[in-house]
Amino acid sequence: MDRYWRGGDLKDDIWKVIEPDLHLAEHVHLQGWGEPLLHPMLPIWVAKAREKGCTIGITTNGDLLDAATDWLLEGNVDLITVSAAGAPKNHETLRGGSKLEQVLASTGNLAALSREKGLRMKIQMSFLLTRSNTADLPKAVELAARSGLDEVFVTHLDCMPTKPHYEQAAYNDDTIIPEGMAVLKVAEKTARRFGIRFRYPNREGEEVLACALNPLHFAFVSWDGKVGPCVNLLLPLNGRIPRWGKAGETRIEPVVYGRLDQAPLPELLASGAREQFIYPFRQRLAAEQRFLSSLDFEPGVRNLRELERAGARRREALDANPLPSPCAGCPKALRW
Ligand code: SF4
Repeated sequence: MDRYWRGGDLKDDIWKVIEPDLHLAEHVHLQGWGEPLLHPMLPIWVAKAREKGCTIGITTNGDLLDAATDWLLEGNVDLITVSAAGAPKNHETLRGGSKLEQVLASTGNLAALSREKGLRMKIQMSFLLTRSNTADLPKAVELAARSGLDEVFVTHLDCMPTKPHYEQAAYNDDTIIPEGMAVLKVAEKTARRFGIRFRYPNREGEEVLACALNPLHFAFVSWDGKVGPCVNLLLPLNGRIPRWGKAGETRIEPVVYGRLDQAPLPELLASGAREQFIYPFRQRLAAEQRFLSSLDFEPGVRNLRELERAGARRREALDANPLPSPCAGCPKALRW
């Protein structure tokens, strides 16, 4: 994997191409495969995006929050997600020595200062549920609550470029593993006891109309200025993107709408490549909308038949407009 990986940082040249068009975006989320708080331009870019009227989110490992507290409290950031890899011991092992207690102390401090200043910054923990940290979830919820965070939400491994990633996922294609199911219940009770909001992913896999990164509304910009539908289809790799699943490895052609060093963002968002990619999503959501509108009648035997017919029409429309082929086998297409 390492040999294919193309690491790098977003350059100011690329940012300057995006910046004039940021008014087109409601929300800008600054996140990388590395740590965004390491980027020296981050405070400036956050302020610029705010000037354009965007809400702004950052996902961080939390190790550098203390050093960033001052500028994070300037009122430009709406959402901070601190990612945890388990309870303290697992977190430290998986995150190269990072101390979860320290991360949460910094996060809690930021949350308290933000409240004192009357800011509306939401500070939450994301917990990546895997087979090796399942039992840690309730403890992590308790620690997050004690630190004064607003919410904990659980995510699954939804990008699986290697076999070990696939083997660590806490679900078996269409259902969450039994230990995962049990621990979600315990964690939910823990959250209630400590008064913190708690969200968890689907417990059953099912094909979505459009994934959570719905390409009708989202676009992803990679560090080297490529624009595409999502991170899963623009992994910074040389060549095709490996994706592991039940049938082993498949290789996906990246989906790129274009490059910001060749065209501005509005042009890329209006490109034929994007239109072609989003077409099935548009058709699927329209089919659902037609179905929902047809439910607007009084119940009765005759109308039950109408309902069956409307359901059949919906199914036909979805079958005629499957998700694009690069989405096949993507965990997000099954709501993970
Ligand atoms: S289903 Fe997966 S690959 Fe397709 S757009 Fe969503 S996240 Fe990207």
